[in-house]
Amino acid sequence: MIAKPSKGSAGKTGLWRTFKPVYDVEKCNLCHLCWLYCPENAIDVLEDRIVIDYDYCKGCGICAKICAKKAIEMVREEET
Ligand code: SF4
Ligand code: SF4
Repeated sequence: MIAKPSKGSAGKTGLWRTFKPVYDVEKCNLCHLCWLYCPENAIDVLEDRIVIDYDYCKGCGICAKICAKKAIEMVREEET
């Protein structure tokens, strides 16, 4: 069992964000590494996709870096 901090332990960290992760379900192989590494626990895993909770995503980009399938791209907030 992998212990993760509860979502929102540092408040709604989405307010800190400059870059936003944008997810492409077509490229995702559901390896769950982004879920494992997200420091804000802002990624939820559904049966067929992941979901990013932008209230808690602080835009650190770890999920995009860890994703071997390049299914997450960091995009500047004002461009989304
Ligand atoms: S790390 Fe990439 S491929 Fe793996 S679940 Fe996350 S988005 Fe999908
Ligand atoms: S950018 Fe990715 S790893 Fe960082 S907080 Fe947001 S969802 Fe989590």
